Amino acid sequence: MASIGIDIGSTATKGVLWNGSGFEFYLTPTGWTPGESAAKAVAQVRRRGHILKNEDLHVTATGYGRNVFQADKRVTEITCHAAGAHYLAPEASTVLDIGGQDSKVITLGPDGRVTDFLMNDKCAAGTGRFLQNMAVHLGCSLQDFAAIPENTPFQPINNMCTVFAESEVIGLLAQGVAKESICLGLLDSVAQRAANLISRISDYGDICFTGGCAQNGLLGKLIEKKTKRRVIIPERAQYAGALGAALIGAGM
Ligand code: ADP
Repeated sequence: MASIGIDIGSTATKGVLWNGSGFEFYLTPTGWTPGESAAKAVAQVRRRGHILKNEDLHVTATGYGRNVFQADKRVTEITCHAAGAHYLAPEASTVLDIGGQDSKVITLGPDGRVTDFLMNDKCAAGTGRFLQNMAVHLGCSLQDFAAIPENTPFQPINNMCTVFAESEVIGLLAQGVAKESICLGLLDSVAQRAANLISRISDYGDICFTGGCAQNGLLGKLIEKKTKRRVIIPERAQYAGALGAALIGAGM
């Protein structure tokens, strides 16, 4: 039987199909209709995995929108992210997930079980939304944030709050500060927030960095510098929750 994991996030809905020997992946914006996005993700990974009959399929939903979708099983994000991250980077003892509107840290035992977790879902500071808003003001893309040259002079950003940081960025641009320096300062503030969150429940071992923001390798390097710990970014970092859900649905 094939197992599909659907992670209905605030920003992106991710689908992963596990057929017992390999995976299929699909991502779509969550938008205003999370149930429809989830149905689309299920249909797409099913098509890619050539799963025609409903009885050959088990669907596990996770993520903030999991309750709006009719699935065989619903599992919390923490459990699914832990399972997915442990599969992708078994050597990591800590998971850092930075998504569209929240960030979380999970600590794992040697068998991958959750030992503790901490979540910041109260404000956009330090999340993908923070960087997306700033990118609009700076007239650049999220990909540009990852491509800042290493020798770029660093412009510290003093405000963590998204609203105040926006005003600060606009002021810096008006003073003629280079965009790259501001981008580096913004990434540094996200990295500092992540390092602070990590230090509250975890102080040793490798960190598996997941979620959409993990696609920014420079952010991973900054977190590595601040925590003085190895940060592993798996190739399918954004799919960790959906992948974990698929594995849990398969009884793994
Ligand atoms: P959620 O589960 O909350 O929907 P995700 O883990 O799917 O969030 O991550 C979505 C976020 O990933 C987006 O808000 C965006 O800021 C960020 N993101 C997407 N692509 C990239 C990229 N190439 N580089 C950096 N960040 C990215």
